[in-house]
Amino acid sequence: MVIVMKPEATEADIKYVIRRATSLGLKTHVSQQNGSTLIGLLGDLRGLDLEVLAGLRGVERVSAMTRPYRLASIEFKPEPTVVKIRDCVVGGERVVVAAGPCSVETRERLNAAATCVREAGGSMLRGGAFKPRSSPYSFQGLAEEGLKLLADAREATGLPIVTEVLSSEQVPLVTRYADVLQVGARNMQNFALLHAVGEAGIPVLLKRGMMSTIEELLLSAEYVLSHGNPNVILCERGIRTFETYTRNTLDINAVPALKELTHLPVIVDPSHATGKASLVTAVSKAAVAAGADGLLVEVHPDRENAWSDGFQSLTPQEFHTLMEEVKKVAAAVGRTL
Ligand code: PEP
Ligand code: MN
Repeated sequence: MVIVMKPEATEADIKYVIRRATSLGLKTHVSQQNGSTLIGLLGDLRGLDLEVLAGLRGVERVSAMTRPYRLASIEFKPEPTVVKIRDCVVGGERVVVAAGPCSVETRERLNAAATCVREAGGSMLRGGAFKPRSSPYSFQGLAEEGLKLLADAREATGLPIVTEVLSSEQVPLVTRYADVLQVGARNMQNFALLHAVGEAGIPVLLKRGMMSTIEELLLSAEYVLSHGNPNVILCERGIRTFETYTRNTLDINAVPALKELTHLPVIVDPSHATGKASLVTAVSKAAVAAGADGLLVEVHPDRENAWSDGFQSLTPQEFHTLMEEVKKVAAAVGRTL
């Protein structure tokens, strides 16, 4: 439920409504929309007589929230959420590009990738130290050693780092090194992990599960938001369809759909969405044209010898080209890169 206050409602009216809602055992969330104050109501509404609130001074109406998520919904918070990560702002006019290798492998390779990302104008460095691999025999990541290498690359380049956390137990460790905690597609509904990153105090990049709906993604975001972390970035990374030519199918619809459902920033991962380096640049352009606030791109200085996802990683030269191409699309839709 959301209480829409009249434009002429006073501070005292608003405070009184909040007090009355609180006395009913509800939590409130205040936001502004077109000059009116909205007071979102959180908690168990069953059995409550909301007519009482509708009749208070300054209240225009009490309307039902039509969606199962609340904090994530645009009705609840009409103004876009802007997530600040050091000097980087996600959800503003500038399209942000986080790029780097799938996995952190060696210091030399990571530093080469980081240098390329910085020189090409990328905003953040990505790289997994804990890897969710389909096979237990595949490279599982360097763990803390990888986090240290990421921190050193941040030191050297100034790029904030995005890295995946696989379990709630790992959250304190990864938080010590990371600027953004990535929750991967396979973990989108790991509710214990969502709870833990909700309490971590640093931004979260939440990837859409490969078999999850947009609504399920938003409900997962709701877990993070409702545990106290307002800094959530959503990531469309492709879903499973009958198509096998590509690794996944980018749900381009999800970008404008999320924009009309939520205030949270939305980025796109064209690397996992396509699974083919040759498609990544075109799909990145489509994502930005559709309104994405950023991209998450795999780049590797020696992709033939990469320890994971080399086939979908761009070479440094290709990444430079991607940035040039995406810049033109960003300008065409009134954004910068
Ligand atoms: C990744 O970004 O390296 C990754 C494993 O992605 P996803 O969770 O989308 O598969
Ligand atoms: Mn990968």
